Amino acid sequence: MLQSFASQVESYSPTPRLVRSDVFAFIAERTWLDFINTEDIRRGVRMDALNDFESMVTWLEAASLLDAERAGGIRRRAQQQPTGATASVVDARRIRTSLRELAEKGACVPQVRADAQNEINRVLGRSAGTRRLEQRNDGTFGRTFVPSGDAFAGLLIPIVESAADSLILGELLRVRSCSDHRCPRVFFDNTKNGRRRWCDMTTCGNRAKAARHRQKGMVN
Ligand SMILES: [Zn+2]
Repeated sequence: MLQSFASQVESYSPTPRLVRSDVFAFIAERTWLDFINTEDIRRGVRMDALNDFESMVTWLEAASLLDAERAGGIRRRAQQQPTGATASVVDARRIRTSLRELAEKGACVPQVRADAQNEINRVLGRSAGTRRLEQRNDGTFGRTFVPSGDAFAGLLIPIVESAADSLILGELLRVRSCSDHRCPRVFFDNTKNGRRRWCDMTTCGNRAKAARHRQKGMVN
């Protein structure tokens, strides 16, 4: 009985709460770090934009890594090839795990950098397609990758390229975890003094400030 209930829960998708693009946080200053933050905790509730294929495509759109036209195409492809679509989500979670290791330990542990390099090359190596420079709706420019052949395989190319850029530029020393130990978010610290501690001043930063005020109140 329990088992059949579990499988029902697993096959239920997409998760309605997550397909709204306005719930995603883009606070990390780097695409690959925002991608790690698809695994998030809000008000104590675990959320995951890589729960299912639809949520993942919605996130890629919100991150400006897929335009509406290509997102429509990839959704149609997912209906035709549901197994391929599901496999691409599983693969995306695997890549995220590897990139989280890189974000959290890469600056100190050479083996973690080597493992991430292998993972990045695995993703870069399996997909053929065309790289393009595109102008976004807001007038800014971005790189896009239009895959040929296996459309799913190319979806995460811009994410691993962003991680590759951080390795090339030696940015790992500025990659931080949020100072609130309950918060799983990571970010790139691009402040002048290199002292950014919180993922977001309106959430974790604000909570810390309130806690400091309470402590002061107790001392006085
Ligand atoms: Zn935080």
